[in-house]
Amino acid sequence: MTTIAVIGLGNMGGPMAANLVKAGHPVVGYDLMAESREQAKAAGVSVHGGAVTAVRDGDADIVITMLPAGKHVRAVWSELLPVAKRGALFIDCSTVDVDSARAVHDLAAKADIASLDAPVSGGTGGAKGAALTFMAGGTDEAFARGKPILAAMGKKIVHCGGAGAGQAAKICNNMILGISMIGVGEAFVLAEKLGLSHQALFDVASTSSGQCWSLTTYCPVPGPVPASPANNGYKPGFAADLMLKDLKLSQEAALSAGAITPLGAAAAQLYALFQAAGHGGEDFSGMINFLRGMAKEGRA
Ligand code: NAD
Repeated sequence: MTTIAVIGLGNMGGPMAANLVKAGHPVVGYDLMAESREQAKAAGVSVHGGAVTAVRDGDADIVITMLPAGKHVRAVWSELLPVAKRGALFIDCSTVDVDSARAVHDLAAKADIASLDAPVSGGTGGAKGAALTFMAGGTDEAFARGKPILAAMGKKIVHCGGAGAGQAAKICNNMILGISMIGVGEAFVLAEKLGLSHQALFDVASTSSGQCWSLTTYCPVPGPVPASPANNGYKPGFAADLMLKDLKLSQEAALSAGAITPLGAAAAQLYALFQAAGHGGEDFSGMINFLRGMAKEGRA
């Protein structure tokens, strides 16, 4: 069986490692936080005293990182590539900036180690239920090796292209999501002002040209889609903090690549305001309440 090291055993990495254990792999790992280490141990992960010892002494064939941001991934890969065994495959599943993703692919290539960027969508529920979608970037060979491992943690695994293509797909998708959620929220706020019921707008728009995921699967008002966070006090789900992180990444990438994304920029600004007003821990669909509040105060 392939031995897998998972570095970063937090809300996502912890349950992902647990699913690799369930699939029968020997899993070694490390996290800076004692609580995450304890939870991983309880799930059957062999937890080491540091990332280097996990990869080197654990004799890992595959190294998966699931870390907060690009700077963490750059630091951890720099530390681990020199101690990894020859023929190892490195996979970064964190959501990071495209430039960092490409930089760590370059580091791996220099160390003659295969690599993939493979960010995920599906959130903590998807991580627990092994139902994540993986968007992978890297060579065909690296993808062919990584796919069966990713399949133990997810339902859909898409090869998006070369180095950094997985991160590019992730931030483009989430830029659409951030913009569309604000659009749907604005439409419901306008409907309220016009005396149109939520259900009537939903019945029309969900089968008309306004149809989109933010409306039909994740409706930001309670009622029409019973499983959406709006029916549960806007508990995440997908926290506004994480949406803002992804929108900022999309804007960094747009600047770096020279793409014009004015609605992405506006969405990033609105989520930054939402966060500054203390709502970062709420589901990102709670933006609708913010839009109502702004209208009340005559600011929009
Ligand atoms: P998290 O903060 O729960 O976990 C990150 C873990 O990394 C923490 O436990 C932290 O202690 C650990 N860590 C940081 N530096 C380390 C180091 N040098 N060595 C070892 N461990 C280290 O975050 P999360 O929710 O698990 O998210 C992880 C990544 O997945 C992020 O990039 C996030 O954007 C992405 N993501 C999260 C979600 C979600 O719903 N939570 C969804 C999709 C993608």
